[in-house]
Amino acid sequence: MSDSDSRPQDLNSNPMDSMGASSPDSEMPTLLDLAQGLRFRLEALKASGWEPGFQLSDPVDMLQPPQADAQPEASSLPAQTPISSPSIPSPSTDSSEAASSGPLPAGVGREWIQKATQKSEPALVSPIEEADPERKKRLELLHEIDRQVRACQECPLHESRTNTVFGVGDPCARLMFIGEGPGYDEDQQGEPFVGKAGKLLDKMIVAMGLHRSLVYIANIVKCRPNGNRDPLPTEQQACFPYLSQQIEIIKPELIVTLGNVPTKYLLDTQVGITRMRGQLQSYDGIPVLPTFHPAYLLRNPNGKREAWDDLKMALEILNLPLPKK
Ligand code: SF4
Repeated sequence: MSDSDSRPQDLNSNPMDSMGASSPDSEMPTLLDLAQGLRFRLEALKASGWEPGFQLSDPVDMLQPPQADAQPEASSLPAQTPISSPSIPSPSTDSSEAASSGPLPAGVGREWIQKATQKSEPALVSPIEEADPERKKRLELLHEIDRQVRACQECPLHESRTNTVFGVGDPCARLMFIGEGPGYDEDQQGEPFVGKAGKLLDKMIVAMGLHRSLVYIANIVKCRPNGNRDPLPTEQQACFPYLSQQIEIIKPELIVTLGNVPTKYLLDTQVGITRMRGQLQSYDGIPVLPTFHPAYLLRNPNGKREAWDDLKMALEILNLPLPKK
């Protein structure tokens, strides 16, 4: 099951419907998500005392989704809460947080927004990241591995790829999502989880009171298996050293595996996701919580309630509050 598996869905009456991807607005969430990410970061900058040289309503507010689409249903999912830090808040204060709250050079905010909204390349480095030595160091390490992945020919998947799909998010993320492999949309765009399943994952993350830019998202394999088939064991084995290094650099406090493939590989088990989901495991000393792949949830909306239970457990493990409804 690839990131962009997008077979027909029926989202009619499930209380988790707000995680569905059926509204017209779901056709443009990449831009909306970017705007939300910008808003979070701008709010964090303002909280640190930085004065923007422009109106915050320009351009972020213009891209805000209608309220009804932005908020989960009152009866099912909690509403998104404001986030005042560029990273998921941690119970402990460390030097990297302190470094990220310092003042930034004048004018850099507008420049970054313009760069980010060009969308020709993923906006990987924000002013906050540039001002944070630890974040910058991790980004450089990740960029180096990304360069290796782009040149990789270790398995046959390189032959048909359009782009490699390395990973995206905060290099200091406390929470990491691991999927299976790129689908068509991801292969085209070079970013994980950007198809319909990716939009659902974004909504799941927002329902947690977080945002895509505050977590890290990667896959077991970095090149698309043709026809959205599962990557072969040999392909997973060939590619895993890259993911292993990503995990080592990011040092997440919790990994959420999405679906069968990453769960079985990371946990070295043959037990299926239906039995594994919601069962806290560990990989290399890091807690691992398996849950359903968003593409599965698109086809099986009844699984959304169990997936939400898993995400609530993830919040509990990270000592994060459950967003208010
Ligand atoms: S899937 Fe991984 S191992 Fe295979 S070619 Fe792509 S980057 Fe290399």
